[in-house]
Amino acid sequence: MTTLQGIAASPGIAIGPIHVVDPEEIEVQDGNLAKSAVSGEKERFRTAIRESLDEVRELREKIALETGEEQARILDAQIEILQDPEAQKQTLAVIERERKPAAFAYRRILTAVAARLDEADSEYYRGRAIDVRDVRRRMLAHLGGIRTHTLRDLKEPSLIVASDLPPSEMALLPRNMALGLATDVGGRTSHTAIMARARGIPAVVGVKGATDAAKQGAIGIVDGTRGIAIFDPDPETLADHVRKRGRYLELAAKRVELKDQRCATSDGRVIELGANLEVPEELPSVIENGADGIGLYRTEFFYLSRKQLPTEDAQFNAYRSIVEAMNPKPVNIRTLDVGGDKFASYLGTPIEKNPFLGLRGLRFSLSREEIFRTQLRAIFRASAYGNVRIMFPMVLGLEDLRRAREIVERVRLQLRKEGVAMASKVPLGVMIETPASVFSIDQLTQESDFTSIGTNDLIQYTLAVDRGNEAISEIYEPLHPAVLRAIRTVVDAGHRAGIPVGICGEMAGEPLYTVLLVGLGLEEFSVSPYLVPEIKTIVRATTFAEARELADRCMSLSTPSEVRTVVTEFMSRRYPGIIVPA
Ligand code: PEP
Ligand code: MG
Repeated sequence: MTTLQGIAASPGIAIGPIHVVDPEEIEVQDGNLAKSAVSGEKERFRTAIRESLDEVRELREKIALETGEEQARILDAQIEILQDPEAQKQTLAVIERERKPAAFAYRRILTAVAARLDEADSEYYRGRAIDVRDVRRRMLAHLGGIRTHTLRDLKEPSLIVASDLPPSEMALLPRNMALGLATDVGGRTSHTAIMARARGIPAVVGVKGATDAAKQGAIGIVDGTRGIAIFDPDPETLADHVRKRGRYLELAAKRVELKDQRCATSDGRVIELGANLEVPEELPSVIENGADGIGLYRTEFFYLSRKQLPTEDAQFNAYRSIVEAMNPKPVNIRTLDVGGDKFASYLGTPIEKNPFLGLRGLRFSLSREEIFRTQLRAIFRASAYGNVRIMFPMVLGLEDLRRAREIVERVRLQLRKEGVAMASKVPLGVMIETPASVFSIDQLTQESDFTSIGTNDLIQYTLAVDRGNEAISEIYEPLHPAVLRAIRTVVDAGHRAGIPVGICGEMAGEPLYTVLLVGLGLEEFSVSPYLVPEIKTIVRATTFAEARELADRCMSLSTPSEVRTVVTEFMSRRYPGIIVPA
């Protein structure tokens, strides 16, 4: 059994036989052309470009009709690559000077382009490598290459494992043949991820080594909600995931029914259950799943998915559409949180030895005030269209919070002077993600309107465990007593100051922890949209009294394993069939 962690790209659990798409894709002939064949070969190349363009345009139309213009636009990148004069010129030069066949020449040129894009800092450019490979594959097929193992060989509904799955392949993939997807590369905003979500196929992307580890025809599991791919599972894991899949499908069926029900314990404690949002494409699922708002809008993905700094207007339009669609429900817009594992080369962030301890989050915004101001202007403008709150990431204490607030105030006054419409009040909140902010919580709550605990970072910094390092993931323990005490400290301070305390890290979306977190006193949860029904179901079936009892009991324990045992025992008893994280 091999378990690989990737990025949760499209929710749901799929189990089935694995179909590995051969990363070699297409074989082409090398060898030299006779001098007399050169001009014919050049013409063949031009014809292949024309035919490929026709095909892609046709495909674009098909997608536009079936899935909508938004999805169809994804293919524009491929049209651009096919029309790229530089790649054509270089290919023609190789045919001419080296007397190489067109397929060989074009493959060499595009392979180099894709390899350069793979190395790019920005997710946007890495995503383009997939398009380049797709164009290469299409052109080589036109130029007489021989396809090796491809999607066309699919004989039965399968889990598709591929290095990447370009949009054109995704578009042609019959829905009933793809049970789930796992790809070596890609991010949450890669086109594969977006299209998988749009088509309701569970998917995990960025699973390093997936194609190497997967065996053709063996059984595999894709957990697109938690971002895990498992190949050749042992009987226990398989049974566990069959159960999880059943529960997911059951909840999916209940989604409509649950949508308008309040998220409250059976003895009346109301929990505001919001959703985390990374890309605007996720908005329909936030609404469908009945979230009470957007508890965390990670705006950096908007920056990372493009080639250059987004303008104020582009940001305003994006924020406005989200805020308007959610109105009157709140949208917590988090200001840019780049740095750490999120980079964009155009931002000119320095290469750092310890990026998670470097220029990230609010520090970055304070060091690049012009970028910060532009974002704040866009957020304030969007505030006229709904219920906006602003949240700062990676706050350490009062000094950085005050600096941020000062800039916010200046931006607000300037906009007022310009006569721009804005909400009369935009609450300002701090994310509690660092031990420093936990220790400074009584000061921070005096000068903020709300707080939200970002457990992904808080756990990382409290336990000194890199959140992305698989090798030490066992000691990344959300149930560590130090983490629970940090959460309790923040909740108590929030209550003393009379401001709400929320939680928006992945811990909030893990059903096993729900009752404990309610018992610790958290009143606002923000989770992946697809987890909203599940968390709501658990909250509605508990009482605040029993939740508090569980939390008090856990707070009296001394070691992570004691806490885990108590929580697991409690949850398995109260919620038979609960998903226990591996
Ligand atoms: C967190 O740290 O828990 C959080 C929600 O922020 P991010 O995961 O974007 O760092
Ligand atoms: Mg964080």
